[in-house]
Amino acid sequence: MKMPDFVLNEAATYLRQLPGRRVAPLEEDVLRLQELRSPFPEHSASAQEVLQILDEYGSPATVASAGGRYFGFVTGGTLPQALAASWLVSAWDQNAAFTVMSPAASFLEELALDWVKEVFRLPSDCAGSVVTGATAANFVCLCAARHELLKRQGWDAEADGLFGAPPIRVVVGDEVHTSLLKALALAGFGRNRVQRVPTDEQGRLRPDALPELDQNTLLCIQAGNVNTGSFDPAEELCRAAQKAGAWVHVDGAFGLWAAASPLYAHLTRGFELADSWSTDGHKWPNVGYDCGIALVRSEPALRAAMTFSAAYIPASNTRDAAHYGPEMSRRARGIELWAALRGLGKTGLAELIERTCGHAQTFANGLRAAGFNVLNDVVINQVLVSFGTSEQTSRVITELQREGTCWCGTTQWHGQTAMRISVSSWATTDEDVERSVEAIKKIADAVL
Ligand SMILES: *Cc1c(COP(=O)(O)O)cnc(C)c1O
Repeated sequence: MKMPDFVLNEAATYLRQLPGRRVAPLEEDVLRLQELRSPFPEHSASAQEVLQILDEYGSPATVASAGGRYFGFVTGGTLPQALAASWLVSAWDQNAAFTVMSPAASFLEELALDWVKEVFRLPSDCAGSVVTGATAANFVCLCAARHELLKRQGWDAEADGLFGAPPIRVVVGDEVHTSLLKALALAGFGRNRVQRVPTDEQGRLRPDALPELDQNTLLCIQAGNVNTGSFDPAEELCRAAQKAGAWVHVDGAFGLWAAASPLYAHLTRGFELADSWSTDGHKWPNVGYDCGIALVRSEPALRAAMTFSAAYIPASNTRDAAHYGPEMSRRARGIELWAALRGLGKTGLAELIERTCGHAQTFANGLRAAGFNVLNDVVINQVLVSFGTSEQTSRVITELQREGTCWCGTTQWHGQTAMRISVSSWATTDEDVERSVEAIKKIADAVL
């Protein structure tokens, strides 16, 4: 087969130009995409022609989130080894469903999961699944919880469904991430059936406000609030849940990775006592999209929630991924997770966490020194800034996004609009932060 060498050139050029380009695409470049709109073409095109169209029209209309000055949402870049692995994985075109379809995918995914358990200090016999993101991981974990909590009440959720099933109580913090509510909806728990527990000024679930728990309760806690980066007091919450026999699920999309750094690991203390954990590879560990990880203490619970059978599905005594996640055929994305972690090693992962947290401090200090109001305790990589009234803050953010030096998003925090700065990319340099702080200050001065 002739290899499409030209893609290497086009991708390399794109990456080389990233540090110099504006972050949000120009509106005219987004509009140019419309020129591609046509009925399904009659005639074929070569791979090279297709790639040229993609590069000419697609590249300028991308957001430079792989570069160093994208601070929107919680967005990691792609480490070079993860990107390279992704290309090789695409060339391999392996189906990660069953070991017999790809021994390499199966082995490397399991190894990557072992390393993630080690980082989070979880028992080595926890079961896991590599999915598309933390939303899917939340869903997988909630399905395992659903299985276990209903089994205790004599109900088989997978066989008999949820109509007529005994109720499960769901308790969440008031600052629950919206993706967890989505996962609750998907898993049949319902978004509105939840009992919300008040949180403190940093968004942490207040243990003193916890309702009585029992063994029919699913308690969802959080490692890394999406706005402030704060951590629920896991040790106290998990102890209370353990005593009552409740299931604790942790949404740790990015925050759990703080466990990798000796400087920040204390924030994650106690989360290892939970029953299930969801996290992202594509956020802080800088695996490319898409990569999420679900981990469940009880292997039988996860397997029971996800397993299926047919005459042609191989019985095997190795771990077949399809029995631990929602999909059957899928990309071997565990290999990219393996590659990112293999390249970083323990020291590299710790350094990545510490460096990005350091950048967040630089943002907070620089903007505070300029007279703006940092609304949160900057405990990890998240910074919330107000530039005055909600209206003034919104105008600064809109203008910043339009100007293009960097990109920061908007959120609401305790009734006011805030700029949300999340530093999650390996690609962010000191100079990127300096340039971005200067741009924010200049724009805020002009707007205000
Ligand atoms: C980002 C995030 C999610 C959702 O993750 P996806 O990878 O976008 O599905 C869930 N919870 C928290 C706390 C997050 O920050």
